[in-house]
Amino acid sequence: MTRTPLDILQSVFGYPAFRPPQGEVIDTLLAGTDALVLMPTGGGKSLCYQVPAILLPGTAVVVSPLIALMQDQVAALRQAGVAADFLNSSQTADESRAVTQRLLAGELDLLYLAPERLVQEFMLDLLARVRINLFAIDEAHCVSQWGHDFRPEYIRLDVLHQRFPEVPRIALTATADEPTRREILRRLDLERARVFISGFDRPNIRYRIAEGGSGGRDKLLRFIRDEHPGEAGIVYCLSRKRVDEIADWLGGHKLVALPYHAGMSSAQREANQRRFLNEEGIIMVATIAFGMGIDKPNVRFVAHLNLPKSVEAYYQETGRAGRDGLPADAWMLYGLQDVITLRQMMEGSTAEEQYKRIERHKLDAMLGLCEMTSCRRQALLAYFGDPEPEPCGNCDNCLTPPQTWDATEAARKALSCVHRTGQRFGVNYLIDVLHGKVDERVQRFGHDKITTFGIGNDLSTPVWRSLFRQLIARGLLNVDAEGHGGLRLAERCRPVLQGAEQLWLRKELPAERASKKSRAAGATVAGAHAELWEALRRRRRELAAEQGVPPYAIFHDATLMELIAQRPQTLGEMARISGIGGRKLAAYGEIFLELIAEHVC
Ligand code: ADP
Ligand code: ZN
Repeated sequence: MTRTPLDILQSVFGYPAFRPPQGEVIDTLLAGTDALVLMPTGGGKSLCYQVPAILLPGTAVVVSPLIALMQDQVAALRQAGVAADFLNSSQTADESRAVTQRLLAGELDLLYLAPERLVQEFMLDLLARVRINLFAIDEAHCVSQWGHDFRPEYIRLDVLHQRFPEVPRIALTATADEPTRREILRRLDLERARVFISGFDRPNIRYRIAEGGSGGRDKLLRFIRDEHPGEAGIVYCLSRKRVDEIADWLGGHKLVALPYHAGMSSAQREANQRRFLNEEGIIMVATIAFGMGIDKPNVRFVAHLNLPKSVEAYYQETGRAGRDGLPADAWMLYGLQDVITLRQMMEGSTAEEQYKRIERHKLDAMLGLCEMTSCRRQALLAYFGDPEPEPCGNCDNCLTPPQTWDATEAARKALSCVHRTGQRFGVNYLIDVLHGKVDERVQRFGHDKITTFGIGNDLSTPVWRSLFRQLIARGLLNVDAEGHGGLRLAERCRPVLQGAEQLWLRKELPAERASKKSRAAGATVAGAHAELWEALRRRRRELAAEQGVPPYAIFHDATLMELIAQRPQTLGEMARISGIGGRKLAAYGEIFLELIAEHVC
């Protein structure tokens, strides 16, 4: 009897059913048609090519841009009993030779390759000598010159179609936008491919964006301690210096935090990345140099201590949280200084005007997301052309709706203070004047004599800072390009200044009124089950260390949780747990059954 894709899904991967559109994608490939798959992170792209690779006679070739990514995928496949291997520069000549022999002997279901290796003539000749059933091009957006992950070697992948016209190809990416999609289809010669686009929602991620101001580090520490004790996460910072500083500081508070940035040696970076993948509960403090190709499923939070440059970047970076579908946090602090810095960078940029306009537009969208008072998920999805009619109930604005206040009068005072002082001073000075502070500088400029001197005593410094931030974010004030932080009136402030428009702004609440309740994934199995949970995790860690693979390659957290909920007593019962296929049942079934039996409650 011939096996079906569903048989493979159940017997090899231990999952009961396909998620849409996996089944349809697989059928398309089995029919010999090319496919382009756009699915959010964690959506389940890998199975779209792994299942046909196993089902069809011959070997599937997977193009993957990063060594770490290949190693991870191959380790996970081998745990499931699949014959998978890779060829890359991390191997010795002997190791590569052994893999090549297995390939030629027809023993491999999947071969992972870096693009630069694949397009070499000797590699193409080698592939021509074996039965190739499928080409999968992972992270296909790397072919786009406009994206920040551009890899020149990807452009040459159109050779696959020329050399192997009869082999179906599948390109996969989580990058959403239309221009990138068109570029993938054109450059990879995939014009006849069937396109599958899934929604981009990541419902398990809770989006939270709070006013940062001073004390950002303390807020971060409190967030991690209260909500994610002992769990893995990523903290993004803008500069290398800040990365080192935050990693040290968290480390000084008994957390395991490792730095990652381009200023470190590649050996150091790799070592830290390995620890992040292979150990549990590690916090990676990093610049945006970190993250591409990080497949770790149980990253429970992504924290931003700075504002990303665009909504695309925000979505991609936060998307590294919660690949396993369990609750995860996207948590960000941002403040006046972020807004000023980014605006300055943009104004000071020497790029062409047209390019600058696009960048400005992207920044505006990002600032808009920060300042908005309605559902953040709706705004994110709308930005990606995937509108959602209902508020999500799982973002900060849905959970604790922010208050707004009529800031029209205050804004007019602030704007006219900018005007009266000559449109060249920064926020701190302007607030001094509004507060009527008499000091040497104010007197020297004669600003103690102007009409706006001391008209702002009704509002505190934090409130004025929040107001200035929102005026800049909304484009009512411009930041000088010279980098001194001087503010100028923008055209858009006119209606407010003239009293023709009302301005309602976000009211800043005291930080951290958000639920103190821990959202740690482990906490959902706390109490009576905590002991078993720890025991299962410990055993998983030992098994992983013995084999030199990450713990999640053995079992995902979700699988451990289901073991706790179901408490199987026989191998037959255990086989019904999601994520336990035939090979894992045989290799680990008895071990975990015993542990469960020891913890009867
Ligand atoms: P992507 O590459 O799209 O980010 P992955 O292929 O890594 O996502 O899959 C994300 C997670 O979902 C993995 O843990 C995977 O095992 C799981 N998964 C994928 N498909 C299914 C399915 N049909 N049923 C249950 N779990 C699935
Ligand atoms: Zn919401």
